[in-house]
Amino acid sequence: MPSEVSEGSRSLIERFGVLMYDRTSECMEVNNAREHLFSQKSRTLENIPPTQAALKEHIKRTCFQANLWNQLLVLDPKIPEASDWGWTKESTGWQPFWTALPEASKSCHELIQCNCQKGCTGRCTCVKAGLACTELCFCSGDCVRVQSFTIAVPESREVQGYQDAEGNMRGTGSENLLRRGSVEGSQPGVNRWGTRGLHPIL
Ligand SMILES: [Zn+2]
Ligand SMILES: [Zn+2]
Repeated sequence: MPSEVSEGSRSLIERFGVLMYDRTSECMEVNNAREHLFSQKSRTLENIPPTQAALKEHIKRTCFQANLWNQLLVLDPKIPEASDWGWTKESTGWQPFWTALPEASKSCHELIQCNCQKGCTGRCTCVKAGLACTELCFCSGDCVRVQSFTIAVPESREVQGYQDAEGNMRGTGSENLLRRGSVEGSQPGVNRWGTRGLHPIL
């Protein structure tokens, strides 16, 4: 068995994967097809191809499986190292290594927006998530509570929160640093969305 899937084979499979989701697509890469189908054709996340990172792992597992089956009648089969082929060993046993990318639900957290028309209070999506509002929100980030956010110097990792409608202190979690790199003033190298930027896939 080769030590890895060749780039030529991988890109051929990738193109095939694109066509399975959109038979008229001219995209060569799943990530481009994902963006196109999601933003231009209103496909749901379930109906777009996997990310390139997830597809790579899936292809590895497929090769691994085929290699095992191919040796079914061999007396002393040479089993490749599963950890090289899309599997990872957890305390509960071997599990698929789904992707090298961070979980979308975590990295897309910063895309939360609200649609408050009468001020951002306890029912505001951003308030609930402990995030200040941005230009994506109906309030355009101009609501009063945003002003109470101050980002401290990065070394101290401190964020001053705000009080919500019930008077509870909110937004003091470190997650705010991800999104609010520069609510007040700006730091070099930190954009409006903090240090992480928008999710690379969407
Ligand atoms: Zn709001
Ligand atoms: Zn707001």
